Amino acid sequence: MQGKNLNVSAIPALGDNYIWLLTAGGKNCAVVDPGDADPVLEVLKRQGLKLRYILLTHHHPDHIAGVPALLEQYSATVFGPADERIPFVHQVCKEGDQIQLTELNATFNILEIPAHTRSHIAFYGENALFSGDTLFSLGCGRLFEGTAADMQTAMDKLAALPAATNNYCAHEYTQSNCAFALEVEPDNMALQARAREVDLSRLAGKITLPTSLGDELATNPFLRTRENSIVKAARKLDPEASAGISVMAVIREWKDRF
Ligand code: ZN
Ligand code: FE
Repeated sequence: MQGKNLNVSAIPALGDNYIWLLTAGGKNCAVVDPGDADPVLEVLKRQGLKLRYILLTHHHPDHIAGVPALLEQYSATVFGPADERIPFVHQVCKEGDQIQLTELNATFNILEIPAHTRSHIAFYGENALFSGDTLFSLGCGRLFEGTAADMQTAMDKLAALPAATNNYCAHEYTQSNCAFALEVEPDNMALQARAREVDLSRLAGKITLPTSLGDELATNPFLRTRENSIVKAARKLDPEASAGISVMAVIREWKDRF
């Protein structure tokens, strides 16, 4: 998949992580959330690529553990959030910042989306969103360091991006997320269609990402906490639940138990 000139491809790692590889036709490249260096080094060597940039969305080991070994072999610039748990960031990224990946002719805007972790960020640009563990296809990240209100704010921020934006999240969780989404909203026809597509992809061993934000808005329950169907489903568990934050709280907890 691609933005303007940017090619994005997946390097599978650690079971169900994806490390996104960004190239622009030349030998320079970037990776997003390298939780393991080995599969990255293998791809770089096979394709004769030179690692110039590393983008980090949050501090969890499955997103950053490969960085030191990559920096031993390449002098790449590391972009990431302000967080003492990520000691090797060269350029700290804050809300509203714009970062230039000059060698790839690409620009990304930084969005702060604390919820899964308190310093989680996303990179948006070139028709692509790198959302880490915040916006999965048909799901969202667990609330380890934030609240349901934080996640609602994060979802609203991402939902405001153009519908054609490709969302590149960091895990292949789509099929299990889909089972939960169908439990919440069984009559959603767009979701039913997506479920068939996801099952076929997984059967064929294919990746289910990226998806467009527009498709996620039509199918992802965590982007739909103000839709009547989702509010109704949440009220079966908590009759007091109201559209938005409290529905988010109910369905996030429901998903944790699912
Ligand atoms: Zn995480
Ligand atoms: Fe993760």
